[in-house]
Amino acid sequence: MHAIVVRRGETEPELIETPRPEPADGEALVRILRVGIDGTDHEVIEHGPEVFPPGDEHMILGHEAVGVVEDTNGTDYQIGDIVVPTVRRRPDDEPNEYFDRDEPDMAPTGYHVECGISGAHGFMAEYITAPEDRLVEIPRRLAELGCFVEPISISEKAIEHAYASRSAFDWSPEQALVLGNGSLGLVTLAMLRQEFEEIYCLGRRDRPDPTIDVVEELGGTYVDSRETPVDEIPDVHGGMDFIYEATGYAKHPIQSVHGLAPNGVAALVGISGPWEFEIDGGSLHTELVVHNKALVGTVNSNERHFKRAIRTLRALPEWLFEELITTVVTPENVAPAFVDDDEQIKAVVEFDRL
Ligand code: NDP
Ligand code: ZN
Repeated sequence: MHAIVVRRGETEPELIETPRPEPADGEALVRILRVGIDGTDHEVIEHGPEVFPPGDEHMILGHEAVGVVEDTNGTDYQIGDIVVPTVRRRPDDEPNEYFDRDEPDMAPTGYHVECGISGAHGFMAEYITAPEDRLVEIPRRLAELGCFVEPISISEKAIEHAYASRSAFDWSPEQALVLGNGSLGLVTLAMLRQEFEEIYCLGRRDRPDPTIDVVEELGGTYVDSRETPVDEIPDVHGGMDFIYEATGYAKHPIQSVHGLAPNGVAALVGISGPWEFEIDGGSLHTELVVHNKALVGTVNSNERHFKRAIRTLRALPEWLFEELITTVVTPENVAPAFVDDDEQIKAVVEFDRL
């Protein structure tokens, strides 16, 4: 079968022929329909996965997938069910409390591998196998957009955890700010617009720009970080009750403390490399304390978030995805899907159609 991989030492995706996987006991065989590409995939290709799958000098890419069950292999699925795989897997046969209680997203390093990210092959292939409890069924009519379930689930978890930190008092948030106009930032802005009176999205681009168009079509206000850094946003737009950090720019979590309104919370999902810079730690400390502010870091998501993401996906407008999906390619011609320029929002590799 065809698979798109990154090889050790290489920084370009490559199409290879590899044997179709055989489902083990308790696993189903899934024919992949579509796989989305995000900032994480670009990182994986640029720097290589932290760990290659055991015994291999390459890793199959992709973690945002949708497919159709082709061989149920004794699992509870039916042939033809549309499913989305979750990303984390047990790293070994050792006891694993995080997986046992359906919270693999809370498993520390060493207690999980991530398909297509580190330690396990991903989903950018004609077929995958997955344990029954690592697949989530979605309605057939959502099949084309099923590759958005995983990224939306990331934000479902981030929002859940941030809100949980505000659950001890009567919190009535009105203003939300998304940092980052990548695909994750834009889809999250769309998720927040029902709930917040005012939504803002921060980028660093000049107009005209397709992502700024999406921000404005969603009813949001575009903020340019070159003109208004995050810590100065309260002077211009007022303090933000909720901030969602999805740039991976390491100053943003720090600046967010000052960008928040009293009692506000910032959910941090962006990932950055090492970067030393000076901060006023004293003011940061005081600001967090005297205004009851919180920063919540969050990674990955579990089945509950996937299920919530399916409901969210159903409620989001169709036009949004028409604008977000900028490239659809076949596996034989993936290069355009890995271009990361200002015209690209979400690229999708299509292996098959229903
Ligand atoms: P993208 O790279 O597509 O988007 C990041 C966006 O942030 C880009 O549009 C970029 O703008 C913008 N940006 C970067 N720096 C600044 C800045 N200083 N000011 C304003 N805008 C800025 O990534 P994704 O949307 O796919 O993902 C967002 C982040 O979330 C990434 O860091 C990714 O690694 C992380 N992630 C984390 C997950 C988790 O579980 N915690 C899961 C998935 C993703 P421009 O394009 O103009 O450079
Ligand atoms: Zn992703």
